[in-house]
Amino acid sequence: MKDCAPLLLDWYLKNKRELPWRRDKDPYHVWISEIMLQQTRIEAVIDYYHRFMEKVPSIQALSEISEDELLKLWEGLGYYSRARNLKKAACMIMEKYHGEFPKNYHDILSLPGIGEYTAGAISSICFNLPEVAIDGNVMRVYCRVTDSDLDISDLKVKKEIGEKVREILPKESGDFNQGIMELGEVICIPGGVPKCEICPLRFHCMAHVNHRETLIPRKIVKKEKLEEEYTLFLIKYKNTYALRKRGDGLLKNMWEFPNENGFLTMEEVKGKIKNIKSIQSSITNTHIFTHKKWFMNSYLIEVSKKDPSYEWFSLEEIETNCALASAYMPFLEAIKKSTE
Ligand code: SF4
Repeated sequence: MKDCAPLLLDWYLKNKRELPWRRDKDPYHVWISEIMLQQTRIEAVIDYYHRFMEKVPSIQALSEISEDELLKLWEGLGYYSRARNLKKAACMIMEKYHGEFPKNYHDILSLPGIGEYTAGAISSICFNLPEVAIDGNVMRVYCRVTDSDLDISDLKVKKEIGEKVREILPKESGDFNQGIMELGEVICIPGGVPKCEICPLRFHCMAHVNHRETLIPRKIVKKEKLEEEYTLFLIKYKNTYALRKRGDGLLKNMWEFPNENGFLTMEEVKGKIKNIKSIQSSITNTHIFTHKKWFMNSYLIEVSKKDPSYEWFSLEEIETNCALASAYMPFLEAIKKSTE
């Protein structure tokens, strides 16, 4: 693996993708991009990143933004606790570090929402500190190059790989960390067959030499997702629609259409919603979270009187001001279609 470090560095410097957060080594830019990239593909993040930087160009601006505005900017990216933690961390930087992003690993790690991987990435990329950043890409490349059957879902294994990678970390730690991650994203890919024929490590990679590259990393049987069923009420009064804010837990403080557990029949819905003028079945949709799967059914309902327990918004207001969780977006589209 030691021989791989210079090859990887050389390959990265010649082949790295032009990405907006790579234009400088400003820790604010790297931080925001790293948080957005958690659980989200690079192509999907680029537009969000530009929009975010336009509206929230600095740590101070992030510390001052309202939660509603922040969630609206994050709408569609999912995992909204990431956005809330960004704001908390920005407030902490303003208070504790006078608005300047901390420059050592442990201070960076102490910020809300920043784990070992992100702290390692920021420390090495922005400050060239000798820190590793171990994610799924790095573990996959490491296991393939060393032809190892380690179970990468095991936290002890992650730590072990971190220690091994640290032993070969060159002084250009930021470029090395980005290089190994990039190799995992574009060449030593997770699904399908890795592109060994164009890989800079192919003559040193033991899995490739032993024709075992597609068997590594070891496949782990994933736990079943928890399945839940909901009925959504898409309630219209004149030109407004009913929404309510979610409480604690998943999608906290995001807006949602009123709903109830289970798939309700039309008769059951009529027993729950007051002052119905008309009701019709609308779309069904499934939304998949990390540990949950929501099956959703819906009814388009027109009422003659507003229920004051909901907030009422026009379609335009919902689209511009309300952070509606992406699970509900297909239902917003169904409402729009019904008004055409
Ligand atoms: S040679 Fe193939 S398996 Fe080995 S690191 Fe490169 S792409 Fe991955």
